[in-house]
Amino acid sequence: MDLLSPSVPTPLQRLVNAGTEKAGVQLYIKRDDLIHSMVSGNKWRKLKYNLLDAQARGKGAVLTFGGAYSNHLYATAAAGNALGLKTIGVVRGLELQDKENETLQFCREQGMQLHFVSREEYRQRHSEGYLEEIIARFGNPYLIPEGGTTGLALKGVAEMVFEIEGQLGAMPDFIASAAGTGGTAAGILSAGANALAFSALKGGDFLKEDIHRLSDECRQPGNLTLLTDYHFGGYAKWNSELLAFMQDFRAEYDVLLEQVYTAKMFYGLFDLIQKGFFEAGTTIVAVHTGGLQGLIKA
Ligand SMILES: *Cc1c(COP(=O)(O)O)cnc(C)c1O
Repeated sequence: MDLLSPSVPTPLQRLVNAGTEKAGVQLYIKRDDLIHSMVSGNKWRKLKYNLLDAQARGKGAVLTFGGAYSNHLYATAAAGNALGLKTIGVVRGLELQDKENETLQFCREQGMQLHFVSREEYRQRHSEGYLEEIIARFGNPYLIPEGGTTGLALKGVAEMVFEIEGQLGAMPDFIASAAGTGGTAAGILSAGANALAFSALKGGDFLKEDIHRLSDECRQPGNLTLLTDYHFGGYAKWNSELLAFMQDFRAEYDVLLEQVYTAKMFYGLFDLIQKGFFEAGTTIVAVHTGGLQGLIKA
């Protein structure tokens, strides 16, 4: 199946600029954006073992949650379609019913059944009682929480870390990633690597606890450094400075970033490097987690 044999290991590329030279750090980009044409980046890593588990349990359908521009809904719809699993997406915002965007249209085209709920109802997405009820309503599908973040997701992300270790011949000092639910950062820690997590949302301090809760059960988790100042106003918010950064990045390295996650991480990382945050000799791998379906057409 195409979906289960995508382009892994993904390439690891060196990034050199005046800042990395001056600081004496070795910076690499892990091209998980090239993993799969539709199920990009960390969403594929996080879905893989969840979907295999759904199949192993004989479930014919999966139900999950996401917002209007959710990369996770997009990936789940495509993956489910490829694997012959029915998908149900619970979408935040009743108002979207009448003005579906391209992400939601894509989900529908892939056969996902969309179920719109109020913001109030969406807030209950982690409550056990609510989950029991909604699962019963849809005929008992396999449940995948928002962002695909589960223990099985960590296993998929850990595979990426071991790819990096193999490609470099050693574990880097840090693996950087953008954080939404923190599942990717937790997966990095679970493989024993040190994670640099850049919150894509405002007030991202809560992520620390979530990431530790997810990764603490692992044998020898690495250390977490959480950066919360590079959110550009909040989740899915950005400004012209960030867009200019994305353009420069593309011109310099021929790599596209998007404005919700990966541009914020690289902006923050370059800023830290320039400010002398890392000792000379430090090796950093920054994960391009994908998400290019959400790139604004500016
Ligand atoms: C979902 C997503 C993230 C955030 O991953 P979490 O595991 O939820 O922290 C980062 N980058 C991209 C491109 C994403 O789609």
